[in-house]
Amino acid sequence: MLTVQKINGVNAPMFECDVCQKPISDMKDGLLLFDRREQPKTITVHRHDCDRMVRKNFQFYFELPTAMVFLEHNSKFTGAARAEAEQKATLMESLAI
Ligand SMILES: [Zn+2]
Repeated sequence: MLTVQKINGVNAPMFECDVCQKPISDMKDGLLLFDRREQPKTITVHRHDCDRMVRKNFQFYFELPTAMVFLEHNSKFTGAARAEAEQKATLMESLAI
């Protein structure tokens, strides 16, 4: 799931593992599990220990970095929109106490 954590004094959106409830602090350690059998269900988990605990309940997965690329493209978050957002995030980090 998405959560907001205080990192170096800045409120920062982060993925949190839906199994252990710890932050997924390195994108390459995360998976997006999803299922379409009945009601669509999506969770984010740490690769290996956490995903092994719940994988049988989900048909498919994306590695989290790949899912992020799809999210960027599918929500038109590219080019100028992405550059503007990066500037805002950098400004927010620079204003942190
Ligand atoms: Zn976990």
